[in-house]
Amino acid sequence: MGKNPSELHDERLATTDSAGHRVYLYPEDVKGKWRTRRNYFYNFLIAIYLILPWINIGGKQSILLDIAKREFTIFGATFYGHDAPLLIFFFLGFVFLIGFITSIWGRIWCGWACPQTVFIDAIYSRIEKLIEGPARKRKKLDQAPWNFEKVWKKTLKWTLFILASMHIAHSFIGYFVGARELIDITLHSPSENMPLFVTTWITVLIILFDFAWFKEQFCLIACPYGRFQAVMMDENSVNVIYDYTRGEPRREKGQKKSEHADCIDCFACVKACPTGIDIRRGSQLECIACTNCIDACDDIMNHIGKPEGLIRYDTELALEGKKAKKFSVRNIVYLISLAILLIGFISQVRSVNDLDVVLLRGSKTPFKMVYKGNQKLVVNHFKLDFDYQGNEFSSVYFKIKSARDIKLVTPRNPYPIRKGMTKANVFFRFSPNSLSKGSRVIYLQILKPNGDKRIIKELEVRLVGPIK
Ligand code: SF4
Ligand code: SF4
Repeated sequence: MGKNPSELHDERLATTDSAGHRVYLYPEDVKGKWRTRRNYFYNFLIAIYLILPWINIGGKQSILLDIAKREFTIFGATFYGHDAPLLIFFFLGFVFLIGFITSIWGRIWCGWACPQTVFIDAIYSRIEKLIEGPARKRKKLDQAPWNFEKVWKKTLKWTLFILASMHIAHSFIGYFVGARELIDITLHSPSENMPLFVTTWITVLIILFDFAWFKEQFCLIACPYGRFQAVMMDENSVNVIYDYTRGEPRREKGQKKSEHADCIDCFACVKACPTGIDIRRGSQLECIACTNCIDACDDIMNHIGKPEGLIRYDTELALEGKKAKKFSVRNIVYLISLAILLIGFISQVRSVNDLDVVLLRGSKTPFKMVYKGNQKLVVNHFKLDFDYQGNEFSSVYFKIKSARDIKLVTPRNPYPIRKGMTKANVFFRFSPNSLSKGSRVIYLQILKPNGDKRIIKELEVRLVGPIK
Protein backbone atom coordinates (compact mmCIF):
# COMPACT_ATOMS: atom_id res chain seq x y z
CA MET A 1 0.00 0.00 0.00
CA GLY A 2 1.37 3.44 -0.96
CA LYS A 3 2.29 5.75 1.84
CA ASN A 4 0.20 8.91 2.23
CA PRO A 5 2.36 11.94 1.24
CA SER A 6 1.25 13.65 4.45
CA GLU A 7 2.56 10.77 6.58
CA LEU A 8 5.35 12.07 8.82
CA HIS A 9 8.78 10.57 9.22
CA ASP A 10 9.08 8.49 12.40
CA GLU A 11 12.32 9.95 13.71
CA ARG A 12 12.50 13.42 12.20
CA LEU A 13 10.74 16.72 12.78
CA ALA A 14 8.32 17.65 10.00
CA THR A 15 10.33 20.85 9.58
CA THR A 16 13.59 19.04 8.78
CA ASP A 17 14.59 16.98 5.76
CA SER A 18 16.97 14.00 5.71
CA ALA A 19 19.94 16.36 5.24
CA GLY A 20 18.89 18.47 8.26
CA HIS A 21 17.72 21.41 6.14
CA ARG A 22 14.61 23.30 7.04
CA VAL A 23 11.34 22.23 5.44
CA TYR A 24 8.89 25.14 5.23
CA LEU A 25 5.40 24.37 6.44
CA TYR A 26 2.19 25.58 4.85
CA PRO A 27 -0.46 24.83 7.49
CA GLU A 28 -3.98 24.74 6.06
CA ASP A 29 -6.48 27.35 7.28
CA VAL A 30 -9.16 26.10 9.60
CA LYS A 31 -12.56 27.41 10.58
CA GLY A 32 -14.34 26.42 13.75
CA LYS A 33 -15.28 27.43 17.25
CA TRP A 34 -11.73 27.29 18.65
CA ARG A 35 -10.33 29.31 15.78
CA THR A 36 -13.00 31.97 16.35
CA ARG A 37 -12.35 32.08 20.10
CA ARG A 38 -8.61 32.37 19.57
CA ASN A 39 -9.10 35.19 17.03
CA TYR A 40 -11.09 37.21 19.56
CA PHE A 41 -8.58 36.53 22.31
CA TYR A 42 -5.55 37.39 20.14
CA ASN A 43 -7.16 40.68 19.05
CA PHE A 44 -7.87 41.49 22.69
CA LEU A 45 -4.25 40.76 23.74
CA ILE A 46 -2.78 42.81 20.89
CA ALA A 47 -5.09 45.73 21.71
CA ILE A 48 -3.90 45.62 25.34
CA TYR A 49 -0.26 45.49 24.24
CA LEU A 50 -0.67 48.51 21.95
CA ILE A 51 -2.90 50.57 24.26
CA LEU A 52 -1.20 50.06 27.66
CA PRO A 53 1.75 52.41 27.00
CA TRP A 54 -0.77 55.21 26.32
CA ILE A 55 -2.68 54.83 29.57
CA ASN A 56 -1.52 56.88 32.55
CA ILE A 57 -2.25 55.89 36.14
CA GLY A 58 -1.50 58.45 38.85
CA GLY A 59 0.30 60.66 36.33
CA LYS A 60 2.68 57.88 35.23
CA GLN A 61 2.57 55.51 32.28
CA SER A 62 0.72 52.32 33.31
CA ILE A 63 3.80 50.18 32.67
CA LEU A 64 7.14 51.97 32.38
CA LEU A 65 10.37 50.03 32.85
CA ASP A 66 12.97 52.81 32.90
CA ILE A 67 16.19 50.78 32.98
CA ALA A 68 18.47 53.86 32.74
CA LYS A 69 16.94 55.36 35.92
CA ARG A 70 16.36 51.91 37.43
CA GLU A 71 12.76 52.94 38.05
CA PHE A 72 9.94 50.52 37.25
CA THR A 73 6.31 51.62 37.31
CA ILE A 74 3.62 48.96 37.14
CA PHE A 75 -0.01 50.08 37.32
CA GLY A 76 0.68 53.06 39.61
CA ALA A 77 3.25 51.35 41.88
CA THR A 78 6.87 52.44 41.38
CA PHE A 79 9.81 50.21 42.23
CA TYR A 80 13.51 51.03 42.13
CA GLY A 81 16.66 49.12 41.31
CA HIS A 82 17.19 48.32 44.97
CA ASP A 83 13.82 46.55 45.13
CA ALA A 84 15.49 43.48 43.64
CA PRO A 85 13.88 41.19 46.26
CA LEU A 86 10.53 42.18 44.78
CA LEU A 87 11.74 41.09 41.36
CA ILE A 88 12.69 37.70 42.79
CA PHE A 89 9.15 37.32 44.17
CA PHE A 90 7.75 38.48 40.86
CA PHE A 91 9.76 36.15 38.60
CA LEU A 92 9.46 33.12 40.87
CA GLY A 93 5.73 33.85 41.09
CA PHE A 94 5.53 33.97 37.29
CA VAL A 95 7.38 30.63 37.00
CA PHE A 96 5.11 28.95 39.55
CA LEU A 97 2.01 30.49 37.95
CA ILE A 98 3.00 29.05 34.56
CA GLY A 99 3.77 25.73 36.30
CA PHE A 100 0.36 25.74 37.98
CA ILE A 101 -1.49 26.64 34.78
CA THR A 102 0.47 24.04 32.78
CA SER A 103 -0.21 21.32 35.33
CA ILE A 104 -3.96 21.93 34.94
CA TRP A 105 -4.45 23.09 31.34
CA GLY A 106 -1.26 21.88 29.60
CA ARG A 107 0.36 24.23 27.11
CA ILE A 108 -2.49 26.72 27.12
CA TRP A 109 0.07 29.54 27.39
CA CYS A 110 1.67 28.51 24.06
CA GLY A 111 -1.58 28.30 22.11
CA TRP A 112 -3.41 31.24 23.60
CA ALA A 113 -1.11 33.87 25.07
CA CYS A 114 2.53 33.48 24.01
CA PRO A 115 3.56 36.52 21.90
CA GLN A 116 5.22 34.11 19.46
CA THR A 117 1.87 32.48 18.64
CA VAL A 118 -0.29 35.58 19.01
CA PHE A 119 1.71 37.89 16.72
CA ILE A 120 2.46 35.24 14.08
CA ASP A 121 -1.10 33.98 13.94
CA ALA A 122 -2.94 37.28 14.24
CA ILE A 123 -0.67 39.51 12.16
CA TYR A 124 2.02 37.81 10.06
CA SER A 125 -0.04 34.81 8.88
CA ARG A 126 -2.97 37.10 8.06
CA ILE A 127 -0.74 39.33 5.93
CA GLU A 128 0.67 36.25 4.19
CA LYS A 129 -2.77 34.82 3.44
CA LEU A 130 -4.08 38.18 2.29
CA ILE A 131 -1.33 38.59 -0.31
CA GLU A 132 -0.33 35.07 -1.29
CA GLY A 133 -3.60 33.23 -0.66
CA PRO A 134 -4.27 29.92 1.09
CA ALA A 135 -1.63 27.28 1.92
CA ARG A 136 -1.57 25.48 -1.42
CA LYS A 137 -1.22 28.73 -3.38
CA ARG A 138 1.57 29.90 -1.10
CA LYS A 139 3.47 26.68 -1.59
CA LYS A 140 3.01 26.88 -5.36
CA LEU A 141 4.21 30.48 -5.38
CA ASP A 142 7.34 29.59 -3.38
CA GLN A 143 8.15 26.76 -5.79
CA ALA A 144 7.49 28.87 -8.91
CA PRO A 145 10.35 30.63 -10.74
CA TRP A 146 10.75 34.37 -10.12
CA ASN A 147 8.23 36.15 -12.34
CA PHE A 148 6.32 39.43 -12.08
CA GLU A 149 3.59 37.99 -9.84
CA LYS A 150 6.08 36.44 -7.43
CA VAL A 151 8.17 39.63 -7.26
CA TRP A 152 5.29 41.98 -6.46
CA LYS A 153 3.66 39.61 -3.99
CA LYS A 154 6.91 38.96 -2.10
CA THR A 155 7.82 42.67 -2.16
CA LEU A 156 4.42 43.71 -0.82
CA LYS A 157 4.41 40.96 1.81
CA TRP A 158 7.85 41.81 3.17
CA THR A 159 7.09 45.54 3.12
CA LEU A 160 4.04 44.91 5.29
CA PHE A 161 6.06 42.54 7.49
CA ILE A 162 8.65 45.30 8.03
CA LEU A 163 5.94 47.87 8.83
CA ALA A 164 4.26 45.48 11.29
CA SER A 165 7.64 44.72 12.92
CA MET A 166 8.39 48.45 13.23
CA HIS A 167 5.04 49.05 14.90
CA ILE A 168 5.46 46.14 17.33
CA ALA A 169 9.06 47.12 18.10
CA HIS A 170 8.21 50.80 18.76
CA SER A 171 5.37 49.79 21.08
CA PHE A 172 7.79 47.46 22.87
CA ILE A 173 10.40 50.19 23.26
CA GLY A 174 7.60 52.51 24.49
CA TYR A 175 7.39 50.32 27.62
CA PHE A 176 11.03 51.24 28.39
CA VAL A 177 11.37 54.90 27.40
CA GLY A 178 7.74 56.06 27.58
CA ALA A 179 5.33 56.12 24.63
CA ARG A 180 4.98 59.90 24.49
CA GLU A 181 8.72 60.44 24.87
CA LEU A 182 9.30 57.97 22.05
CA ILE A 183 7.01 59.93 19.72
CA ASP A 184 8.94 63.08 20.60
CA ILE A 185 12.28 61.31 20.03
CA THR A 186 11.20 59.94 16.64
CA LEU A 187 10.37 63.49 15.50
CA HIS A 188 14.02 64.46 16.00
CA SER A 189 17.12 63.44 14.11
CA PRO A 190 18.35 59.86 14.95
CA SER A 191 21.79 61.34 15.72
CA GLU A 192 20.30 63.00 18.85
CA ASN A 193 19.43 59.57 20.30
CA MET A 194 21.73 57.19 18.48
CA PRO A 195 21.80 54.37 21.11
CA LEU A 196 18.00 54.29 21.22
CA PHE A 197 17.78 54.45 17.43
CA VAL A 198 20.14 51.47 17.10
CA THR A 199 18.33 49.52 19.86
CA THR A 200 14.97 50.08 18.18
CA TRP A 201 16.21 48.87 14.81
CA ILE A 202 17.85 45.81 16.34
CA THR A 203 14.46 45.06 17.95
CA VAL A 204 12.71 45.53 14.59
CA LEU A 205 15.14 43.08 12.94
CA ILE A 206 14.79 40.48 15.70
CA ILE A 207 10.99 40.66 15.49
CA LEU A 208 11.08 40.48 11.70
CA PHE A 209 13.44 37.51 11.73
CA ASP A 210 11.47 35.63 14.37
CA PHE A 211 7.84 36.29 13.46
CA ALA A 212 8.23 36.47 9.68
CA TRP A 213 10.85 33.80 8.97
CA PHE A 214 11.89 31.66 11.98
CA LYS A 215 8.27 31.15 13.11
CA GLU A 216 7.50 27.63 14.45
CA GLN A 217 11.24 26.88 14.64
CA PHE A 218 11.41 28.98 17.79
CA CYS A 219 8.79 26.77 19.51
CA LEU A 220 10.45 23.59 18.26
CA ILE A 221 14.11 24.23 18.96
CA ALA A 222 14.64 27.45 20.93
CA CYS A 223 11.90 27.89 23.53
CA PRO A 224 13.02 26.71 27.00
CA TYR A 225 9.44 26.42 28.24
CA GLY A 226 8.66 24.04 25.39
CA ARG A 227 11.52 21.81 26.57
CA PHE A 228 10.49 21.40 30.20
CA GLN A 229 6.70 21.68 29.99
CA ALA A 230 6.45 17.88 29.90
CA VAL A 231 7.65 17.63 33.50
CA MET A 232 4.95 20.06 34.62
CA MET A 233 2.13 17.90 33.28
CA ASP A 234 0.72 14.54 34.27
CA GLU A 235 -2.24 12.37 33.31
CA ASN A 236 -4.58 14.81 35.11
CA SER A 237 -3.57 17.74 32.88
CA VAL A 238 -6.05 18.87 30.25
CA ASN A 239 -4.47 18.96 26.81
CA VAL A 240 -5.23 18.76 23.11
CA ILE A 241 -5.61 15.04 22.72
CA TYR A 242 -6.64 12.46 20.12
CA ASP A 243 -9.23 9.98 21.40
CA TYR A 244 -7.64 6.75 20.19
CA THR A 245 -10.43 4.72 21.85
CA ARG A 246 -12.84 6.29 19.37
CA GLY A 247 -10.51 6.74 16.41
CA GLU A 248 -8.74 3.38 16.15
CA PRO A 249 -8.55 1.29 14.10
CA ARG A 250 -8.45 4.14 11.63
CA ARG A 251 -9.63 3.70 8.05
CA GLU A 252 -7.36 1.97 5.59
CA LYS A 253 -7.59 2.40 1.86
CA GLY A 254 -10.63 0.64 0.37
CA GLN A 255 -12.26 -0.12 3.72
CA LYS A 256 -16.01 0.23 4.17
CA LYS A 257 -17.47 2.52 6.86
CA SER A 258 -18.39 -0.43 9.06
CA GLU A 259 -14.83 -1.79 9.01
CA HIS A 260 -13.06 1.09 10.72
CA ALA A 261 -13.54 3.41 13.69
CA ASP A 262 -14.05 7.21 13.55
CA CYS A 263 -10.66 8.32 12.19
CA ILE A 264 -10.80 8.19 8.41
CA ASP A 265 -7.06 8.92 8.12
CA CYS A 266 -7.72 12.06 6.08
CA PHE A 267 -4.68 13.90 7.54
CA ALA A 268 -6.69 17.13 7.90
CA CYS A 269 -5.35 17.45 11.46
CA VAL A 270 -1.74 17.04 10.30
CA LYS A 271 -2.11 19.48 7.40
CA ALA A 272 -3.53 22.15 9.75
CA CYS A 273 -0.79 21.80 12.35
CA PRO A 274 1.57 24.82 12.44
CA THR A 275 4.39 22.66 13.85
CA GLY A 276 3.73 19.83 11.42
CA ILE A 277 3.02 17.03 13.89
CA ASP A 278 0.48 14.23 13.96
CA ILE A 279 -1.45 14.48 17.23
CA ARG A 280 -2.62 10.88 16.74
CA ARG A 281 0.86 9.77 17.80
CA GLY A 282 0.12 11.03 21.33
CA SER A 283 1.23 14.11 23.27
CA GLN A 284 4.41 15.56 21.84
CA LEU A 285 6.85 18.30 22.85
CA GLU A 286 6.21 20.02 19.51
CA CYS A 287 2.50 20.52 20.19
CA ILE A 288 1.78 24.15 21.09
CA ALA A 289 -1.88 23.40 21.85
CA CYS A 290 -3.10 25.77 19.17
CA THR A 291 -6.37 23.79 18.65
CA ASN A 292 -6.08 23.87 14.84
CA CYS A 293 -6.31 20.08 14.70
CA ILE A 294 -9.48 20.14 16.84
CA ASP A 295 -11.25 22.44 14.38
CA ALA A 296 -9.90 20.55 11.35
CA CYS A 297 -11.10 17.20 12.71
CA ASP A 298 -14.47 18.54 13.93
CA ASP A 299 -15.08 19.74 10.38
CA ILE A 300 -14.34 16.25 9.04
CA MET A 301 -16.58 14.65 11.68
CA ASN A 302 -19.43 16.95 10.66
CA HIS A 303 -18.97 15.92 7.03
CA ILE A 304 -19.02 12.19 7.78
CA GLY A 305 -21.87 12.47 10.25
CA LYS A 306 -19.93 11.57 13.41
CA PRO A 307 -19.89 13.51 16.68
CA GLU A 308 -17.28 16.22 17.08
CA GLY A 309 -14.45 15.80 19.59
CA LEU A 310 -12.33 12.97 18.17
CA ILE A 311 -9.55 15.45 18.86
CA ARG A 312 -10.43 17.64 21.86
CA TYR A 313 -9.30 19.17 25.13
CA ASP A 314 -9.22 16.29 27.61
CA THR A 315 -7.00 14.34 30.00
CA GLU A 316 -5.10 11.08 29.45
CA LEU A 317 -7.07 9.56 32.34
CA ALA A 318 -10.40 10.40 30.71
CA LEU A 319 -9.36 8.42 27.61
CA GLU A 320 -8.75 5.44 29.87
CA GLY A 321 -12.26 5.88 31.26
CA LYS A 322 -10.94 7.13 34.62
CA LYS A 323 -11.84 10.34 36.39
CA ALA A 324 -9.07 12.93 36.45
CA LYS A 325 -8.41 14.67 39.76
CA LYS A 326 -9.44 18.32 39.82
CA PHE A 327 -6.39 19.10 41.96
CA SER A 328 -3.45 16.70 41.97
CA VAL A 329 -0.57 16.87 44.48
CA ARG A 330 1.45 18.68 41.81
CA ASN A 331 -1.26 21.36 41.41
CA ILE A 332 -1.47 21.84 45.16
CA VAL A 333 2.32 22.20 45.54
CA TYR A 334 2.34 24.86 42.78
CA LEU A 335 -0.63 26.62 44.36
CA ILE A 336 0.87 26.73 47.86
CA SER A 337 4.22 28.00 46.51
CA LEU A 338 2.35 30.63 44.51
CA ALA A 339 0.35 31.74 47.55
CA ILE A 340 3.54 32.07 49.67
CA LEU A 341 5.22 34.14 46.96
CA LEU A 342 2.13 36.30 46.52
CA ILE A 343 1.92 37.03 50.25
CA GLY A 344 5.65 37.90 50.28
CA PHE A 345 5.25 40.15 47.25
CA ILE A 346 2.21 41.99 48.61
CA SER A 347 3.79 42.58 52.03
CA GLN A 348 6.96 43.94 50.37
CA VAL A 349 4.95 46.18 48.03
CA ARG A 350 2.82 47.49 50.89
CA SER A 351 5.82 48.45 53.01
CA VAL A 352 7.27 50.35 50.04
CA ASN A 353 4.08 52.09 49.02
CA ASP A 354 2.80 53.10 52.45
CA LEU A 355 4.96 56.20 52.16
CA ASP A 356 4.32 59.04 49.71
CA VAL A 357 6.82 61.88 49.48
CA VAL A 358 6.54 65.17 47.61
CA LEU A 359 9.63 67.32 47.07
CA LEU A 360 9.17 71.06 46.50
CA ARG A 361 11.63 73.92 46.20
CA GLY A 362 11.66 75.61 49.60
CA SER A 363 12.51 79.29 49.04
CA LYS A 364 11.35 81.99 46.68
CA THR A 365 14.89 82.34 45.37
CA PRO A 366 16.07 79.07 43.77
CA PHE A 367 19.51 79.32 45.42
CA LYS A 368 21.51 81.38 47.92
CA MET A 369 25.23 82.08 48.09
CA VAL A 370 26.99 81.60 51.44
CA TYR A 371 30.60 81.85 52.58
CA LYS A 372 32.45 79.26 54.60
CA GLY A 373 35.74 80.90 55.42
CA ASN A 374 37.04 82.02 52.04
CA GLN A 375 35.01 79.44 50.19
CA LYS A 376 31.97 80.56 48.23
CA LEU A 377 29.17 77.97 48.33
CA VAL A 378 25.69 77.57 46.80
CA VAL A 379 22.71 76.46 48.93
CA ASN A 380 19.45 75.01 47.55
CA HIS A 381 16.54 74.63 49.95
CA PHE A 382 13.79 71.99 49.46
CA LYS A 383 10.72 70.99 51.45
CA LEU A 384 9.59 67.41 51.83
CA ASP A 385 5.96 66.48 52.51
CA PHE A 386 5.57 62.93 53.82
CA ASP A 387 2.27 61.08 53.78
CA TYR A 388 2.80 57.86 55.72
CA GLN A 389 0.03 55.29 56.23
CA GLY A 390 2.09 52.40 57.60
CA ASN A 391 3.28 51.26 61.03
CA GLU A 392 6.60 49.71 60.13
CA PHE A 393 8.97 52.59 60.95
CA SER A 394 8.86 55.94 62.83
CA SER A 395 11.76 57.75 61.14
CA VAL A 396 13.53 57.82 57.78
CA TYR A 397 17.12 58.30 56.80
CA PHE A 398 18.24 60.71 54.02
CA LYS A 399 21.15 60.02 51.70
CA ILE A 400 22.44 61.54 48.48
CA LYS A 401 23.05 58.96 45.79
CA SER A 402 26.66 58.91 44.55
CA ALA A 403 27.39 62.67 44.55
CA ARG A 404 30.12 63.17 47.16
CA ASP A 405 30.70 66.80 46.26
CA ILE A 406 27.16 67.72 47.39
CA LYS A 407 26.58 68.06 51.12
CA LEU A 408 23.18 67.32 52.57
CA VAL A 409 22.14 69.43 55.54
CA THR A 410 19.06 68.47 57.55
CA PRO A 411 17.99 69.32 61.11
CA ARG A 412 17.96 65.60 61.96
CA ASN A 413 19.02 62.44 60.18
CA PRO A 414 17.28 59.99 60.77
CA TYR A 415 14.25 62.25 60.63
CA PRO A 416 11.17 61.32 62.69
CA ILE A 417 7.93 60.84 60.75
CA ARG A 418 4.50 60.00 62.13
CA LYS A 419 1.47 58.32 60.64
CA GLY A 420 -0.27 60.90 58.46
CA MET A 421 1.46 64.07 57.27
CA THR A 422 4.99 65.19 58.25
CA LYS A 423 7.02 68.07 56.83
CA ALA A 424 10.80 68.32 56.62
CA ASN A 425 13.37 70.81 55.27
CA VAL A 426 16.53 69.70 53.50
CA PHE A 427 19.40 71.84 52.21
CA PHE A 428 22.03 70.98 49.61
CA ARG A 429 25.35 72.83 49.89
CA PHE A 430 27.97 72.68 47.17
CA SER A 431 30.62 74.53 45.26
CA PRO A 432 29.45 76.41 42.11
CA ASN A 433 31.98 74.21 40.25
CA SER A 434 29.79 71.18 40.98
CA LEU A 435 27.25 72.46 38.44
CA SER A 436 27.33 72.36 34.70
CA LYS A 437 25.83 75.41 32.99
CA GLY A 438 24.19 76.40 36.28
CA SER A 439 22.34 73.17 37.06
CA ARG A 440 22.68 69.47 37.85
CA VAL A 441 20.39 66.54 38.63
CA ILE A 442 21.09 64.41 41.69
CA TYR A 443 19.02 61.81 43.56
CA LEU A 444 17.91 62.02 47.20
CA GLN A 445 17.28 58.60 48.69
CA ILE A 446 14.82 58.01 51.53
CA LEU A 447 15.85 54.89 53.43
CA LYS A 448 14.53 52.80 56.25
CA PRO A 449 16.42 54.02 59.34
CA ASN A 450 17.74 50.72 60.61
CA GLY A 451 18.50 47.12 59.71
CA ASP A 452 19.05 46.74 55.97
CA LYS A 453 18.67 50.52 55.36
CA ARG A 454 16.51 49.62 52.37
CA ILE A 455 15.69 52.49 50.03
CA ILE A 456 12.00 53.35 50.17
CA LYS A 457 11.98 56.21 47.67
CA GLU A 458 14.41 57.90 45.34
CA LEU A 459 13.65 61.50 44.40
CA GLU A 460 15.11 63.43 41.51
CA VAL A 461 16.49 66.82 42.64
CA ARG A 462 17.52 69.53 40.21
CA LEU A 463 20.17 71.73 41.82
CA VAL A 464 20.68 75.22 40.45
CA GLY A 465 23.23 77.96 40.94
CA PRO A 466 25.00 80.80 39.16
CA ILE A 467 25.88 80.26 35.50
CA LYS A 468 29.58 80.84 35.09
S1 SF4 B 1 -1.08 18.98 17.29
FE1 SF4 B 1 -2.92 20.22 17.15
S2 SF4 B 1 -2.86 21.56 18.92
FE2 SF4 B 1 -0.83 20.66 18.69
S3 SF4 B 1 0.30 22.20 17.51
FE3 SF4 B 1 -0.54 20.72 16.05
S4 SF4 B 1 -2.50 21.59 15.44
FE4 SF4 B 1 -1.87 22.68 17.26
S1 SF4 C 1 -8.63 14.99 11.04
FE1 SF4 C 1 -9.64 13.54 12.39
S2 SF4 C 1 -10.34 11.98 10.97
FE2 SF4 C 1 -8.80 13.13 9.85
S3 SF4 C 1 -6.91 12.05 10.23
FE3 SF4 C 1 -7.06 13.61 11.82
S4 SF4 C 1 -8.02 12.54 13.53
FE4 SF4 C 1 -8.38 11.28 11.73
